[in-house]
Amino acid sequence: MDHFIFASIFVFGAIIGSFLNVVVLRFDTGASISRGRSKCFSCGKTLSWYELVPIFSFLFQGGRCKGCRSKISWQYPAIEISGGLAALAAYLWALPGQGALSVASFALLAALLFLYIAITAYDLRHKIIPDEFSYGAAAVALALLGVEWAATGTLDFGRLAAGPALFAFFGFFWLVSKGTWMGLGDAKLALSIGWALGLSAGVASVLLSFWTGAAFAFAAMAIQKIRSRRGLGLKSEIPFGPFMIVGFLLSLLFRIDIQAILSFLAV
Ligand SMILES: [Zn+2]
Repeated sequence: MDHFIFASIFVFGAIIGSFLNVVVLRFDTGASISRGRSKCFSCGKTLSWYELVPIFSFLFQGGRCKGCRSKISWQYPAIEISGGLAALAAYLWALPGQGALSVASFALLAALLFLYIAITAYDLRHKIIPDEFSYGAAAVALALLGVEWAATGTLDFGRLAAGPALFAFFGFFWLVSKGTWMGLGDAKLALSIGWALGLSAGVASVLLSFWTGAAFAFAAMAIQKIRSRRGLGLKSEIPFGPFMIVGFLLSLLFRIDIQAILSFLAV
């Protein structure tokens, strides 16, 4: 029975993931998100239902369009698999039980993770985070805090303050750097991270995002240097939003809060 539930939840998440692919591609481009069948970008062939089955279509077609054999971006199956994993994670992290609050916490957690997938993909592709995504995530994280308040009977004031605190931190960077180090979109994203994690884990997730971001930037620079044999410097622009979400996930998955980081650094 458990296997059936897990499989169903993964499939549900993968289907949402294939919808997220459409959202990331079409949002803010003037194209309708709900109307218009998906087409191949190379030959314009309208895709039939069996070419739109999450993950499987990509596998069975060998990652190529059936019409023109041109390569399909690996972004599609990656987001579909992420969607499936996000739904599973939400199921495992949701409040236990079968009551309305458990269901609500599952739905909100899943929505938050789906939004973070969309933000990651959109930021990587367009180097910007739409307000609709970041404020949507903030509203969901706040609602999640409300559900947990209702379930436990106590409001976590520290967590309530953590959203605006992290927003102010990134907003400060945005202000003093005049938007060159951080975008205001990163500050808006930090709002939901603070509300979802609380202050201690939230600050830890920010540190983790700086470290993973720096590690990635150094690795990218090194690879570029080897490839081109002439240092290209720091020109290539790397969006920070995806690293904030990596930090969020690391903190959540491994329960890393600021105490865990301090005790790790003290060793
Ligand atoms: Zn094609």
